Amino acid sequence: MRNSKLENEMDLKPLSTSKEWKLIYYQHGRPGLEESKKIKGLCNYCDLKSLCGLPKPEIGVWRCEHYIAKIRKKRGLHENVLKLLEKALETNNFDRDICKIMAETMNELVVHFPVRMDDDRVKMLTGYRVQHNNVLGPFKGGLRFHPMVDIDEIRALATLMTWKTAIVNIPFGGAKGGIHIDPADFSPKELERITRRFTFALGNNIGPEYDIPAPDVNTNPQIMAWIQDTYMSTISPNERNRSIHVVTGKPIESGGSVGREKATGQGVVYCIERWAQDHGFNLKGATYIVQGYGNVGSWAARLMKRNGSKLIAVEDVTGAIKNKEGIDADDLVHYVKEHGGVADYPKAQPIDHEVFFNTKADIFIPAALENAIRRDTAELLNVKLVAEGANGPTDEEGNEVLQRKEIDVIPDILCNSGGVIVSYFEWLQNKRSEFWELDEIDTKLKKIIVSAYERVRDAAQKYKVDWRTAAQIVALYRLEMVYKERGIFP
Ligand code: NAD
Repeated sequence: MRNSKLENEMDLKPLSTSKEWKLIYYQHGRPGLEESKKIKGLCNYCDLKSLCGLPKPEIGVWRCEHYIAKIRKKRGLHENVLKLLEKALETNNFDRDICKIMAETMNELVVHFPVRMDDDRVKMLTGYRVQHNNVLGPFKGGLRFHPMVDIDEIRALATLMTWKTAIVNIPFGGAKGGIHIDPADFSPKELERITRRFTFALGNNIGPEYDIPAPDVNTNPQIMAWIQDTYMSTISPNERNRSIHVVTGKPIESGGSVGREKATGQGVVYCIERWAQDHGFNLKGATYIVQGYGNVGSWAARLMKRNGSKLIAVEDVTGAIKNKEGIDADDLVHYVKEHGGVADYPKAQPIDHEVFFNTKADIFIPAALENAIRRDTAELLNVKLVAEGANGPTDEEGNEVLQRKEIDVIPDILCNSGGVIVSYFEWLQNKRSEFWELDEIDTKLKKIIVSAYERVRDAAQKYKVDWRTAAQIVALYRLEMVYKERGIFP
């Protein structure tokens, strides 16, 4: 495995501070500016790319200052994760040596691979797989396709996966992966070739009993089916049918599980229901707002609707909308499928980012990307509960503000664990050649996530800490027990 620290593009510095947009060139995969050019226009890689007419260079990657500033803003996702670990350490007398192990990732793989585009040219792309820990079982974690994917993010998300599987007591470790692309830039055929070539590049660094990817941001059951097929096509014929569980979140026909698609949103809603029960809070008529209307956000919104709660504002990458009379979560799903986002939804009013965050509601479900709840946005929030569907949606300062404002938080590693729990069910069904019915899946999921919720709640009371720290304590406690029982080899 290569040392991915070399790949950290966050070390890039712009050459000047001119207000003019600059595009900055660096050699693909290697930090350091090789050459720079001042070009009037907007970056074709950042959020403003729709305004840009600049062609992408064939060699090298072009980034504008805006994009680099964005990367800097999210700098330290892994640092945030480590700070949480330190906080848990201060609260409980955990074994320092075991915490040293937990603070590092086990393996970091960075692959650069060529893919032929529809116009017959070849593009070099970069993908990552980070395996944080497998003391509890095979590495497990999603794969995302996003232009902001970098090693820091994947390292942090892999670490969170280890805590998550430990909290919910399932026999998996933690991993995460991704490809540094904006899938909107590629045709379906190109995406298939990208996925297959990345899978080939990962080789036996993934496997059904070793490291099992799943869907995450901008990836879906179809992408899992391509990974499964590529993996199975590159191993010996008599191993093939014993390997269908190399990925979870597959289409049902290819060995997927019923209930997996909605599992993360379902888990979020089971947690919210348990919170409501604890607080004597009636979800019927309660209001909620959702950031991110992809898999997690839309399913959480639809399942909240079944409780009689009212969705009043939604934000995604295309914009934000509000309707205080209520937005029909199912109708919005159809609209998003057709139009690619919530912007211009005719049955609501457009609002800006600040108004979205300032919308008075009972519950906020962040289900987009990390660091959405920072100091400024947390100050705006006007809710009783934040139920974290996304991974790492709250940074350290945002968390402090939530605590000061006494907003309850169901932290990500507990709240969004429904996905990995049902992935575990899918994996088990594949191994046993079984097919479980939806009510069996839902009953088992609820049992597991609600008991994890109760463990975190009890730890928060016992150690007098916030829920995020409590969740970390529950995870570390389990990991420490296993390390102590087994010892450190040799
Ligand atoms: P997705 O790709 O299906 O949806 C992502 C959503 O976020 C989209 O609606 C997109 O428009 C929105 N978004 C992206 N950038 C945004 C921005 N800057 N502002 C507002 N909205 C923005 O992804 P998903 O699978 O639903 O994952 C969402 C989050 O949930 C991620 O943090 C992911 O890691 C986490 N998660 C997903 C799963 C799963 O099973 N899919 C499991 C656990 C955690």
